[in-house]
Amino acid sequence: MSWERNIVLKSPAEIELMKQAGHINALALAEVRKNIRPGVTTAKLDKIAETLIRDHGATPAFLNYPGPFPYPATLNTSINEEMVHGIPGKRELKDGDIFSVDCGTVYKGFVGDSAFTVGIGKISKAAQKLIDVTEEALRLGIEKMRAGNHIGDVSSVIQEWVEGNGYHVPREYSGHGVGRQMHEGPQMPNYGTAGTGLLLKPGITIALEPMVLVGTHRTKVLKDQWTVASADGSLTAHFEHTVAVTEGDPLILTV
Ligand code: MG
Ligand code: MG
Repeated sequence: MSWERNIVLKSPAEIELMKQAGHINALALAEVRKNIRPGVTTAKLDKIAETLIRDHGATPAFLNYPGPFPYPATLNTSINEEMVHGIPGKRELKDGDIFSVDCGTVYKGFVGDSAFTVGIGKISKAAQKLIDVTEEALRLGIEKMRAGNHIGDVSSVIQEWVEGNGYHVPREYSGHGVGRQMHEGPQMPNYGTAGTGLLLKPGITIALEPMVLVGTHRTKVLKDQWTVASADGSLTAHFEHTVAVTEGDPLILTV
């Protein structure tokens, strides 16, 4: 299926609803962040996120998402070389890990989708640099989410920044349109050429999500059939916001 065929422009009223979904998602991630420490299991963090989302009258967007088998949790919890789609479980976070948390929330029919990466306890300077470069890639990408720009303007600023820092962006995993569905058009790759691709216009809503790998752009899917990791076992990081293109400045919906 081409996501380019499934682009749904949102009205200002719909963007307002997406903001509400995004806000609940941000609250869930903030609650998770507060509970991140060495020794906590990813399953415990998952429960915390699910409880907060349901307490706000919303539902987890990832739970039962179709895949090799229906996704079994609220969060994606991905540790160190794991990049995205890690399944929460009994594994405990430990000092020196870097930890990516991705969450989706459905509220009044609309989805909010966002993610962050954080160090556990004391992490290496190299790991901190990876996290900082990835977060900055998201900021740079958001800044380009303006009517009149092309998809490639966003993609290329992310790729150039990441590769300029000596890191890599994956080819098989991208940002995506989001709205009533978790994955709509257009696709928003983390690599591309400025001035190419779909023209952005007001009402386009995209989950922008730079994923960055230290050693290679290649990835592999682990035995659990969901978790995506770097092919060479090097560290990875991931940040994401859902962003609306407007008549003016980009509007971050997942805050
Ligand atoms: Mg996400
Ligand atoms: Mg996403």
